[in-house]
Amino acid sequence: MHVYSIPMRSRFRGITQRTGLLLEGPAGWGEFCPFEEYDDDESMPWLACALEAAHDGWPAPVRSRIPVNCTVPVVSPEKAHEIVARSGCSTAKVKVAESTLAEDCARLEAVRDALGPHGAIRVDANMLWDVDTAVAAIKAMDKAAGGLQYVEQPCHTLDELAEVRRRVGVLIAADESIRKAEDPLKVAVSGAADIAVIKVAPLGGVRRALEIAEACGLPCVVSSALETSVGMAAGVALAAALPELDYACGLATLQLLDGDVTSDSLMPVDGYLPVPAKPPVPDRVEGFESDALTKAWISRYDRVLNKLSR
Ligand SMILES: [Mg+2]
Repeated sequence: MHVYSIPMRSRFRGITQRTGLLLEGPAGWGEFCPFEEYDDDESMPWLACALEAAHDGWPAPVRSRIPVNCTVPVVSPEKAHEIVARSGCSTAKVKVAESTLAEDCARLEAVRDALGPHGAIRVDANMLWDVDTAVAAIKAMDKAAGGLQYVEQPCHTLDELAEVRRRVGVLIAADESIRKAEDPLKVAVSGAADIAVIKVAPLGGVRRALEIAEACGLPCVVSSALETSVGMAAGVALAAALPELDYACGLATLQLLDGDVTSDSLMPVDGYLPVPAKPPVPDRVEGFESDALTKAWISRYDRVLNKLSR
């Protein structure tokens, strides 16, 4: 086992260090990295996901590479243009709702300019809008972007998402509304979204996530939980095994970390990630290993494992 702690290049999701535990089994390496504030119950599917990678391996892929989006944080239009142009991706995900509508629209215009007319632009509001704000903002942004592919989580609740969805002509994706296995089904049944953003660790592994994706019946976008390449490989395996993959996935997030635990990094090339046969081996953990955190992570692992085997 290794316990790692890697600095984030910039603060993301309120954290400046990504920490977790890497474990090895007969099938390869798995990553157990629930966020710090998660309790043991919420961490159980994360461990199930890591143990699946280490002990069982993953179902056979039906594709050999995964299209991925680049991510544009709240930056100037010039910087946004540069990020998109440099990424090689034909899909851009733009973080919105944290700056003024005019600033968001200016950034979207720059992203469209960098992508060209055939690229796809999606925005993520991370639940920050109420319904009326969402409806007005989405209409303005759809115009500024020259067409939006979809809007991710404009509001907090399923009722609000459903209402926004009725009032705009842009597709709605649910992300924060999908945290647990039962959530994607609720989202689909309540007519709250057209697309489900799914993450392999919170859903308990590749096989479980595949069942959930099938049961909810919505097109899925596989996204990361800011893992290193070891855990990211499970997300790639899920995207590779989904019968249909209509949209680029949010799996190009390694750049948000200031380093990786392996020399086999899952970095996109020309907008695609390769599908690895096995999780990468963490051959570059030195320098990220943290004695201070090791004890806490091993005891977290023991507690969650204990719960899982009960
Ligand atoms: Mg999101």
